[in-house]
Amino acid sequence: MVDFHSHLDLHVNPKAVVTECEARKLRVLSVTTTPQAWHGTQSLVQDDSLIYTALGIHPQLASNSKLELDIFRELLPKTKFVGEIGIDGSKELKSSITQQIHMFQSILSACEKQGGRILSIHCRNAATIVLEELETTVKNSVPILHWFSGNFSELERAISLDCWFSVGPPMFYSTKGMQLIRRMPTNRILTETDSPFVQLKGKLLMPWDLKNHHQQLGNLLGIDSLESGRLVEDNCDRLIQQIC
Ligand code: MN
Repeated sequence: MVDFHSHLDLHVNPKAVVTECEARKLRVLSVTTTPQAWHGTQSLVQDDSLIYTALGIHPQLASNSKLELDIFRELLPKTKFVGEIGIDGSKELKSSITQQIHMFQSILSACEKQGGRILSIHCRNAATIVLEELETTVKNSVPILHWFSGNFSELERAISLDCWFSVGPPMFYSTKGMQLIRRMPTNRILTETDSPFVQLKGKLLMPWDLKNHHQQLGNLLGIDSLESGRLVEDNCDRLIQQIC
């Protein structure tokens, strides 16, 4: 099982969630929303863990990002994984869009300077802006668009820019999400929960719950649940080999 965008550090009991993920041998991209959380989040996992701790700055921090960016640059040599980063064009964050773009550009340039990173990218209501920045700056990094909700032409553009996609249960059961997933290249799909921020039928979606949704993902891709689980595992292996 693969949960390639999860906020393990924001659960009520992060250590218990990490222990459960490790016991079940889950592959997790444990994203952070501020670089100041990276050390503490990284220290939750064992040395041989399949949990990768990503260094992130959430777009909502853009209006006051100088200190965050300094810490980000200092820690970047320590990890191959970056996220959550990106741009949010929704109503609540639109006022900081210029600062968000500058911060995103700084992050992408820093990653390129280090030879490239695996990037988990937030692009709500901002797919076109995000793709423009990726097109201009990214050569060595591998962008993964988390919970992509753009339109079909933005999806086509993302595919042509070699983006990957991490998709989760909320997309498996929405008409738009299903249409997008059917158009994604199957060899660039990963699964995610965005835990602890997603509830399904009134219950918090946990990383290990993904197993219960392999069938639905398989239906969308025209394969069975075992194959869809294996597909995502294989994709994850290939992705990690690309950068590590
Ligand atoms: Mn997230």
